[in-house]
Amino acid sequence: AGLPMRDFASPAPILSFEFFPPRTEALESQLWACIRRLETMRPSFVSVTYGAGGSTQARTHDTVARIVRETSLTPAAHLTCVGASRGAVDDVARQYWDAGVRHIVALRGDPPKDSAFEAHPGGYASAAELVAGLKRVADFEISVAAYPEKHPEATSVQADLDNLKRKLDAGATRAITQVFFEADTYLRFLDRCLATGITEPVVPGIMPVSNFGAAVRFAASCGTTVPDWLAAMFGGTEEDADTRRMVGAVVAAEQVRLLQANGVDEFHFYTLNRPDLTYAIAHVLGVRPQAARPADDAAAAAG
Ligand code: FAD
Repeated sequence: AGLPMRDFASPAPILSFEFFPPRTEALESQLWACIRRLETMRPSFVSVTYGAGGSTQARTHDTVARIVRETSLTPAAHLTCVGASRGAVDDVARQYWDAGVRHIVALRGDPPKDSAFEAHPGGYASAAELVAGLKRVADFEISVAAYPEKHPEATSVQADLDNLKRKLDAGATRAITQVFFEADTYLRFLDRCLATGITEPVVPGIMPVSNFGAAVRFAASCGTTVPDWLAAMFGGTEEDADTRRMVGAVVAAEQVRLLQANGVDEFHFYTLNRPDLTYAIAHVLGVRPQAARPADDAAAAAG
């Protein structure tokens, strides 16, 4: 009989979309086409990632500020504390607040390649400290990261859950998970969160896969397991982008439908600045596009 379809009398699921700041003009127009298409799905917020180093951080700020100016979307700015003093991080946060940004995804960030994390002298030493610091700057809404397969540096599964709880106790109100491919992995993680006393939403981070090779490399870098069945499904599509995309759609649709059938009603999508798979999967979840509000049209014409 298949998985049950969403009961359309009940509210549509809550969606959020993640983008990365563009490095080139071509990537910038790709991002904005993506934002415009996904805007019609009325996500509760959209987030923009934050890289190490000055220029990428300015690009995050510019992208978020443009979302505030030109769209009807509610932006969330990712912010990391690795390699920066508390004062510098607080200044960035204040700039966001002044630009009208009220939601921060607070992260520790990763050390430079092949070295272990070391707190900046006078910096925030962990995401939990960063959350507390941001709350002192202004009353931001704060989301934090969660790891269904444990953060690679955590000494144990429980130590990582305790750390997640510290971040929420410090003032975050939502966790978003690292990418995972096995619905069961996430559902078991939710059980462990509850057992740890975590009551805030722990939203699954969904990465629709259109480039399997790239997804495998990304998964390896963040400790996400690539199940054999997934590799088998994509096997033989290396030279066949059309089929690969269709396989990617089927895999992601199955994953979100399984989660939905288990009561999950909030989803965060790693869009990779490509709208099509996310749009189709949101549609499968029962979300339907709505025309942009008139004010948006005016802003779009002006921009
Ligand atoms: P933390 O929560 O501080 O945890 C880091 C590690 O330290 C964990 O192993 C934790 O268990 C351990 N730990 C923390 N405190 C203690 C303590 N007191 N005692 C013992 N152990 C402790 N990175 C970017 O650079 N830019 C982004 O935009 C970005 N966005 C992301 C979005 C999401 C949804 C996710 C899941 C990750 C994102 N990342 C991003 C990656 C993130 O920066 C890395 O995973 C980083 O290594 C850890 O960040 P964190 O905020 O989880 O750190």
